[in-house]
Amino acid sequence: MSATILDGREYATAIRQELTDLAIQRNAEVGYTITLAIVVVREPNAATVNASDIYTRQLQRTAQSIGIDCRIVDLPLTITLEEFRVALHDLNEDKQIHGIIVQLPLPPHIDREVLLDTIKPERDVDGVGSFNAGSLFLNLPARVSATCAAVMEVLDRAAIPLDGKRVIIVGASTIVGKPLMLMLLQRHATVSVCHIYTQDLSLFTQQADILIVAVGKPGLITSTMVRPGAVVIDVGINVLPDGTVVGDVDFTAVREIAGAITPVPGGVGPLTNLMVIRQTLTTLDNVVFL
Ligand code: NAD
Repeated sequence: MSATILDGREYATAIRQELTDLAIQRNAEVGYTITLAIVVVREPNAATVNASDIYTRQLQRTAQSIGIDCRIVDLPLTITLEEFRVALHDLNEDKQIHGIIVQLPLPPHIDREVLLDTIKPERDVDGVGSFNAGSLFLNLPARVSATCAAVMEVLDRAAIPLDGKRVIIVGASTIVGKPLMLMLLQRHATVSVCHIYTQDLSLFTQQADILIVAVGKPGLITSTMVRPGAVVIDVGINVLPDGTVVGDVDFTAVREIAGAITPVPGGVGPLTNLMVIRQTLTTLDNVVFL
C-alpha cells in the first residue's frame, strides 16, 4: 500500500493563517510593524541570481504576506569582521527589528562563529548562535534552527507520536541533524544519528519508526533501507542536472514501503520560512543574556 503523503504545502496554508493572526496581534501590542532583517553579503549590482538571492526573496515575500516588514541589509564582499559585527550591533539595537538572519555562505575571511554570536539571542531567529545552541542542549527556552522546527511541525501536524519511538537521523550537521537530535530527545524519542562515517547505514535505517534524512545526496535512501510502515521525513534538497529538485530519498520506491513520507519539493521546505517568521513574532521567555 502506498504511503500517506505528508503535504507540507497543506500544513503551510494553515500555519500562514495562524501567523497572520499572530502578526496582527503582536504588531498591535508593540505599536509598530515588527521587522525581520535579512543580511546579505554580495557583489554590488551582481548580474547573476544565486540560491541565496532566491531564498531572500522568498523569505521577504512570505514575511510581507503575513504582515511583518522585511529589511534587506546588503553588505559588500570586502566587509571586515569588525565592520560586519558593527552592522549586526546596529540591528540588535533597532527596536523595530525582532529577527535577524544572516545569509550563508559568508566570505572566507569572516569567522562565522564569532560573527553569528554577535546577534542577540532573542533576535537569532534561525538558532545559529552558541547561546541558543547551549539553551537547546540544556532544555531551556531557545531559538532553534528553522529547518528543525519545520521537521517537528510536520511530525506534530501529522500527529505522529514520538514518545519511545526509535528515530534515526541521517546527517549530523550543526544546522539540521544535531539540533534535531536534541529536539526529538526532549520529546522522549530514542534517537540515533548517522553520518558519513557510519558503517552499514541500512542496519540503522531499517530499525527506524521515524527516519529523517538530511544529507544532500539524491537517492541515498532506497526502499530496502526502510522498515515497512515507517515515517520518512526527507529534508534533502538536490537540484539534478536537468533542473529537477529531489530529496535524498528515492521517493517513488520508498512511498510503496513507508507508512508516511514527505515529498520533495512540498514537504519540509514550505515550512522553513514560516518557522523563521514564527520565531520573529514570538518572544523568548525567561532568557537573561549577560
Ligand atoms: P551538511 O553538508 O552540512 O551535512 C551533511 C551531513 O550528511 C553530514 O553530517 C555528513 O556526515 C552526512 N553525510 C554525507 N554523506 C553521507 C552518507 N553517504 N551517509 C550518511 N551520512 C552522510 O548538509 P546540511 O546543511 O545539513 O543539509 C543537508 C541537506 O538538507 C541538503 O540537501 C540541504 O540542501 C538540505 N536542507 C534543507 C533545508 C530545508 O529547509 N528543507 C534546510 C537546510 C538544509
